[in-house]
Amino acid sequence: MTILVTGGAGYIGSHMVFELLDHGEKVVVIDNLTTGFDWAVPDRAELVIGDIGDKKLVERVIRDFKVEAVIHFAGSVVVPESIEKPLDYYRNNTSNSRELLDAVVNCGVDKFIFSSTAAVYGTPMTTGPIREDAILNPMSPYGSSKLMTEIMVRDAALASDLRYVMLRYFNVAGCDALKRTGQSTKGATHLIKIACEAALGKRPFMGVFGNDYDTPDGSCIRDFIHVSDLVNAHYAALNFLRQGGLKFTANCGYSKGYSVLEVIEAVKRISGNDFPVMMEPRRPGDIPALTANSHRLKSRLTWSPRFDDLDTIIKTALDWESALEQRRKSA
Ligand code: UDP
Repeated sequence: MTILVTGGAGYIGSHMVFELLDHGEKVVVIDNLTTGFDWAVPDRAELVIGDIGDKKLVERVIRDFKVEAVIHFAGSVVVPESIEKPLDYYRNNTSNSRELLDAVVNCGVDKFIFSSTAAVYGTPMTTGPIREDAILNPMSPYGSSKLMTEIMVRDAALASDLRYVMLRYFNVAGCDALKRTGQSTKGATHLIKIACEAALGKRPFMGVFGNDYDTPDGSCIRDFIHVSDLVNAHYAALNFLRQGGLKFTANCGYSKGYSVLEVIEAVKRISGNDFPVMMEPRRPGDIPALTANSHRLKSRLTWSPRFDDLDTIIKTALDWESALEQRRKSA
């Protein structure tokens, strides 16, 4: 039996592929390579280049590879871009997920793990780490497109044998400690990646999008989770489903927040490189502060974090950024 990883050539998906292979699993990836890279998928996994919205292709892959479970990462992930191109997000994240789910249910696959996001919550009504039973009120098409898929998964499961886990990611960063894969997206917009690029001289400066929020230093607060801990939570989710688990939704974060300015200072300290930082206007769609209550993940899945430390996250991200530079020079 094989695990199908959609978006397995992308940042989180490729880490998932290594996690599964490290546990002796068989893996097939479907990725259309719009943001992923074929080199990020190791030879030990099969790569099928194609779109998850292509139901016939997905059904063929499920049958040919005797797929036991689907871990679904493929999609678009940038909040401000989703505000500019909402229909692209509803296609990539919602419509294509519908086609994928249709194929999954048609073929009788009964285990489904979905990459959801903290963006489904919108601006929390309360302060402090947010729980899974908080009101769901996305503030961006990205969050809405993911919430719509959560609802589809839930409803499909009610009408079929499908069992599922939805993992709501907070801010994912860092890279594989063995440097086998990492965050390689061109034109990346995520904070730690941008700060690492600035620290390594790949960009002349970076901006802070708003320092007038109602937070201790005025910049936004986020809960950063190391990508290797995140994919390990997916492996725990797979085992939950294998043991007969029916449905489960959990936040993925460390229940700790760091401000944008704190992250930038940490990148400067760890890299040993200073770089110019400009204060810029607020970015549309940004939530002032978002941290996870991760009690449910820890208590219900066999999961405990191994990289729960901002410095470790940043160090692995910097290492990968340097490795990417070497790869570029030797290409
Ligand atoms: N951010 C920033 N400068 C950048 C990139 C991000 O100030 O160059 C801020 C962004 O406005 C947000 C936080 O960093 O407050 C996290 O943004 P990111 O895009 O990494 O993730 P998001 O929380 O939007 O998913």
